[in-house]
Amino acid sequence: MKQVHGKVSRKMWHWMWPDLEPDDVPITSITNGVHGRTWISFDMASLLDRYLGPRWIDQPWDETIWNRIKDIPSTELWHTHERRRERLVAFVRRRLRNQFEIKGATGSDLEIANEVLDPSVLTIGFARRFATYKRATLIFKDIERLTKILTNKEMPVQIIFAGKAHPKDEEGKEFIKEIYRTAKKPELRRHIVFLEDYDMTIARYLVQGIDVWLSNPRRPLEASGTSGMKVCFNGGINMSTLDGWWDEAYNRENGWAIGAGEEYDGKGSESVDYQDSVESKALYQLLEDHIVPKFYRRGTDSIPKDWVEMMKKSMMTNCAVYNTNRMVQDYTKRFYLNALDSFEKLSADEFKGAKDLAAWKKKINVSWDRVKIIDVKEPINKELQRDDLLNIEAIVDLDKITPEDVTVSIFYGNLDYNGNIVNGQEVIMDVKSQDGYLCNYEGVIKCGDAGKFGYSVRIMADKDELVSRFHFGKIKWEVAR
Ligand SMILES: *Cc1c(COP(=O)(O)O)cnc(C)c1O
Repeated sequence: MKQVHGKVSRKMWHWMWPDLEPDDVPITSITNGVHGRTWISFDMASLLDRYLGPRWIDQPWDETIWNRIKDIPSTELWHTHERRRERLVAFVRRRLRNQFEIKGATGSDLEIANEVLDPSVLTIGFARRFATYKRATLIFKDIERLTKILTNKEMPVQIIFAGKAHPKDEEGKEFIKEIYRTAKKPELRRHIVFLEDYDMTIARYLVQGIDVWLSNPRRPLEASGTSGMKVCFNGGINMSTLDGWWDEAYNRENGWAIGAGEEYDGKGSESVDYQDSVESKALYQLLEDHIVPKFYRRGTDSIPKDWVEMMKKSMMTNCAVYNTNRMVQDYTKRFYLNALDSFEKLSADEFKGAKDLAAWKKKINVSWDRVKIIDVKEPINKELQRDDLLNIEAIVDLDKITPEDVTVSIFYGNLDYNGNIVNGQEVIMDVKSQDGYLCNYEGVIKCGDAGKFGYSVRIMADKDELVSRFHFGKIKWEVAR
């Protein structure tokens, strides 16, 4: 229930189950993962082979394997990573020279490509589709402040951008132009690079060589995001708004969060501007106060000890979870095997199960309009205290369907300002007696701790063969009290 993408999907599809609470919409979520072996550098893979043994490749979901990252000497991890940063800088210069040549540059103009970036400088990567919500140019919001950060003499910073915009995405193309213009400024030329034709080759060099991977999607629009996961296998550290996978992965020690997961629901450009302003400031502050100083704080061995600690925490916590092996297992266990099982049950005996289920739905549909909650009683009359047990009785008219066809339950919890139940819980009620169409149900709930408390009785058409209790979506509520 915690995953943002699950919550967003349930909200998006709520219209299909209008009588359900949004949280009960039968849609759940599995977070993406990446294929570590595809994205990890040869250098890092060899280091892991030596200290973790070979199982990190075939059983990456086993966190005990990743815990051995602790045993890698910091100097070795750091030098491995630095070697990849050097390779990245060399690669970027080659690609850039190529880009210039294609545009007809010659002589001294081509020389510029050899002067960009510095293999020992803190390197930020930003590469993805330039969809508007991913905000490629958020970091340019206050260009003066950014210039100061990038061109600091003792602690310089550089950014490598790569990406493509959809041909019809004018705003995305505008982002690319802005990056070009900014990267051309004489004072920033060595610190900002844009690579064209983003593809898996560029992606590999980037995720293997950068120090910090920047992601700043507008929450809650990023379903997952995967490039940040690729970075983790290579010892890069994520800095991101709390959206998509990072909202699940971030634990205060394994990277940085831009903001605290706020959502700015206003639709107008004013609210968008406001969000950009708040989050870009948070981004600069993280860089100035935390990221840059941590990177340049070196011991006598010239190793940034705290930085390497964070690299290790990022690898230990993220690699075991955000890999495709775990993801495919989740899909298999939670969905594919159940779907197969369900298919076998429904199709056996010339689809007897499917025919029965269809007939059952028809029966429910015929009676459903007449099914209703006649009365709800709580047979005590006193001020309720915290933890008091409350006995509730409901009289229900089931028309021509039977108690076997339904689940009657109490949905309860604290009330918000509008009198709606928030984070509701459910208690299933039992049939106590039946008189013709009328059934008497009973259930017990425990009163909440503080504030206004409320409950509502509901009837749901329910059958074991349904994929989920909420799937059919036939539900009747007592008017909430
Ligand atoms: C990983 C990858 C993406 C997707 O990145 P997200 O972070 O999920 O947006 C897009 N393009 C290339 C070339 C990639 O390698």
